[in-house]
Amino acid sequence: MNLNKISPYPTPLIKLESDYLNKQNVNLYIKRIDLIHPYISGNKWFKLFYNLIEAKEIGEDTLLTFGGAFSNHIYAVAAAGNEYGFKTIGIIRGEKHLPLNPTLRFAESCGMKFYFVNRSLYRQKESSEFKEWLEDKFGNFYLLPEGGTNSLAVKGCSEIITSIDMEFDYICTACGTGGTLAGLVCGLSGKENALGFSVLKGGDFLIKNVERYIQKFSGEIFHNWDIKLNYHFGGYAKITNELINFVKMFEKNYGVPIEPIYTGKMIYGIFDLIKNNYFKKNSTIIALHTGGMQGLKGLQNKIKKYASSL
Ligand SMILES: *Cc1c(COP(=O)(O)O)cnc(C)c1O
Repeated sequence: MNLNKISPYPTPLIKLESDYLNKQNVNLYIKRIDLIHPYISGNKWFKLFYNLIEAKEIGEDTLLTFGGAFSNHIYAVAAAGNEYGFKTIGIIRGEKHLPLNPTLRFAESCGMKFYFVNRSLYRQKESSEFKEWLEDKFGNFYLLPEGGTNSLAVKGCSEIITSIDMEFDYICTACGTGGTLAGLVCGLSGKENALGFSVLKGGDFLIKNVERYIQKFSGEIFHNWDIKLNYHFGGYAKITNELINFVKMFEKNYGVPIEPIYTGKMIYGIFDLIKNNYFKKNSTIIALHTGGMQGLKGLQNKIKKYASSL
């Protein structure tokens, strides 16, 4: 087991080249942390790393966590359990549908055991009653919250900054829980700027959450970050024709595969900000490719529906 090095593989930092970006006078890079591991990809690797070490140290042999049926977090936890010798339990939101979708099929092949709970019960997953009920049912376990965000995840994500050896002005990430953004802000420690792009509708709560995560991990308050709330395309996992067209255009022009749930919305947002001269002249912007490509398998039908109208 090699859990003593956070970035076992250096990941590429690629400059995106086009006449358009030249004309707009910005330097846009993409940091491919999605390539850090074949299954524990992108930000999930950084979020899990110190949690896995902690679980080993306190002698827990089971990871228990929560997520939707297409969750990148569920996928990553299952893979991490398989690779680093933990049993894994996934509490999955909603009814069980057979056959299992590709995400859950993979998680099951990694040995994850599922427990499906209806949406109203799922909403109470943070309550102490629910935790007690889980303990009665499953015994001891190391609890990872939904989306994997806790202080150790913030610590892990702060090290994404250390893995970048180039000067820049902005680092951008898609936000679900905001844990990754909080980590980036802590890693910057007051220098440069971090920009989050909410992939959920009504992401205002994210601002408070990110403030709290930053405070809890670093004890500090930083002002060099912001979250853009207008690029959610209708809400979590919602896609539109315009978004799918954009993702295809981006992949074709820049040769980097992305997906529409997280990175697609962020990159759309970055291009929209570039168009509106949000970044000052000659800015260097790094977009974090947080991964999530596994989710595409379960999305193909939805995407085809849009693509057929192209
Ligand atoms: C989970 C995930 C995110 C969101 O990360 P948070 O730390 O919850 O904000 C962003 N991108 C991808 C690809 C993800 O899987």
